[in-house]
Formats: sequence, C-alpha cells, structure tokens
Amino acid sequence: MSLRNDITEVGRQDRCCDICGSSLWAKVWSYSRVARARSAAFLWNVDVVICLRCGFCCVSPVPTENSLLEYYSGNFAAFSGQSVDYSVEKRLGVLDRFAPGERYVEIGASSNNRDFLKALRSRYRNIETVEVNDTASPTVRRVGEIERGLADVVCAYFVLEHVGKPVEFLGECASMLASTGRLVVEVPDIRHYGVDPVALRLHEHVNHFSPATLVEVARLAGLDLVFSSVDDCSRSFGFVSVFRLSVSSTTQFLPVDPPDVVKEWIDRGLELVGEFYSERDACRKRIAEASLENRCLIWGANSNSLDLFDGWAVPERVVVVDRDPRKRDFFFGEPVVMEPEDAISCIREAGIVIICSRRHRQEIEDYIEGVSDEKKTIIVLDINR
Ligand SMILES: [Zn+2]
Repeated sequence: MSLRNDITEVGRQDRCCDICGSSLWAKVWSYSRVARARSAAFLWNVDVVICLRCGFCCVSPVPTENSLLEYYSGNFAAFSGQSVDYSVEKRLGVLDRFAPGERYVEIGASSNNRDFLKALRSRYRNIETVEVNDTASPTVRRVGEIERGLADVVCAYFVLEHVGKPVEFLGECASMLASTGRLVVEVPDIRHYGVDPVALRLHEHVNHFSPATLVEVARLAGLDLVFSSVDDCSRSFGFVSVFRLSVSSTTQFLPVDPPDVVKEWIDRGLELVGEFYSERDACRKRIAEASLENRCLIWGANSNSLDLFDGWAVPERVVVVDRDPRKRDFFFGEPVVMEPEDAISCIREAGIVIICSRRHRQEIEDYIEGVSDEKKTIIVLDINR
C-alpha cells in the first residue's frame, strides 16, 4: 500500500482559548494520522490540549480555515445507500418541543436521509441547507449566503466539533435567527469518552465540549441556554443543547470545568483508544497467520481499516470489500477495494473475515452466509462501541 506517498499535510496555526483567551495549554495527547478524502490523502498532526485556566479542551495548533475547507469539500459524504447512524425521532422530538415555525436552516446536512427530510418538510415551509462537501446538494454552500434574522430554527448536528473558530461559527448561526428563533446544537460529550472513545479518536474533531463549555462558547456568541440533554441527543455519544438570542451581552467568562477533571475524561478515553490498537495488533497477527493458507477478507474501507493497514506490510492474500463503489481506490492502488458482488469467489475462499463496521455487522454476516456455506472466523474491528 502506498498510502504515505502522495499526502497533503493539513496546515495549522496557533490558537488561544476560545472561552477565556488564555494560551496556557496542557497537552494531553499528540499523534499523527493519514486520512483519506476522495481526491487525496491528508496528514493530520493532532495535539489535544486543555486550557489550564478554564478547562476548555480542543486541538491546538488548529487546522487553518483553508486546509479544513480543502479537506471537507473532497471528503466522502455518507453513501446514499447507507442507513443513517442517528435517531430521526429524537431530532424531531427536540424540534417539535422547542422550535416550531416556518423557516428551518441546517448547517452540515450531508448525512440527512429521506425520512428526516420528509418529516422536516411536513413541519417547515422553508428549508435551507448549507454544506461544503462537493457531492452533497445543499441549497447554499456558505453560511453567509443565508438571509439574516429570519430563521425560526437553525440546526448544527455534530458540526461544531469540526469548526476551527466555534465562537465565530455560533455567532453566524445567531445572526440567522429571528428574534424568537432557536439554535439546536448536537456535539459529542467529552464526559462520555471513557465509555465510547470514538469522538476522541477522530482526527477531524478540533473541539471537545462538555455541556458547560458549550454554554460558555455560546454565551460569547450572544446566545443563552434554553435546554440541554444527553437522553434527547440523536447519537448515543453526544448531547443536545438549545439556545436563544441573549437579552443582555456579556464578555466575562464564568469558571467552567476543572482542568484535572477534564484530563481524567480524556485519560479514560485514551485507555479505550489503547485497547482498540491492541485489538488491531491482534487482528494483524491473525491475518498474517491465516493468510499463509487462505484468503483473508476485510469488510469496510474506512478509518478502522486505514488504522489496520497504515504502516503495515499487508499480506498478499488480503482482499478488501466495501459496498460503496467510490471506495475502489481508497488505499491508493493496493489493495483494490471490491464490491461484494465482484468478490464472491474471494468471500467463499476466505477463512477469516474482519468486519470494520460494528453497525453493519449483521447485514454483512447475512450476506456472507448467503453466498458461502463454509464456516468462517468473524472478528469485528471497530473503535465504535
Ligand atoms: Zn480557557
């Protein structure tokens, strides 16, 4: 695999704390990783830090706006054949309770499915979506193109953790709201990393919020908290918060999370990340042994299989399969990623199958059983719990 040959390094710049302005950071995790977008591979150098003054956790230096735009515009948006990985009912529940009205704006809407859009259309007369990904078809490409002061609700589902300047971003969201409008934000919950480290491990996440730090970031953007909940969030590892425009303006920050408590949340998450890499190493060993006799099947061209292959001399008999035809060249030539229908004989021959997507485990096993009578060893390798 020539994964590290043709790589664009993500440009970075120094950052002051978005909440308190301090630049006294405690570094808690540093790593680099190669991430695959449609057109190129990107090298992310990531330093996760905690502000010693207020406890805000983020990545510093932070990727520049231009490098983020380059990365996300060519990123793999959710494959249209895939089921969504969030609860449509929970999103609608919060909207019905807090954000009735006519004008709906959503930022970063590339993962929306037909059911959610249909339900939105039955509730809101005017729906606008903003998305930078080339393959998505939003109504506009830039936040600035949305008319100001008109929206009854603005939603940003799992967007804010990707944004280099969160106060500025929420300020733009606030400027779209009508005076009675509501902003709905969902983000991963840093307090939950010790249970599910998926959001900690994702290199794209440049902010790690708790409900308390999100309130402070929003306050600086002119927004007050109306409601916050873990149970009503559409994904198990996050929380949802609803905001309205502030009546009074303030620039004074309130004390947020104690830095040592934040460090504990991160440390517990890092233990689980370490467990994932141990599982990956055990997988490599199993594959190396099994491939002496038979083909080995890896199901899923994604961040888990990237972690499996990166820096490893992949044995020759390894075959990778993915449902998404755009993933054919995901590993830059070798190994080629095949669609299941083109890999039937390999699937039959394989003695061991590594499934790199826990969420799709059952449908993958059903497919394999449907085309092959041979009993196979199945191993799931996925940082998602
Ligand atoms: Zn701070």
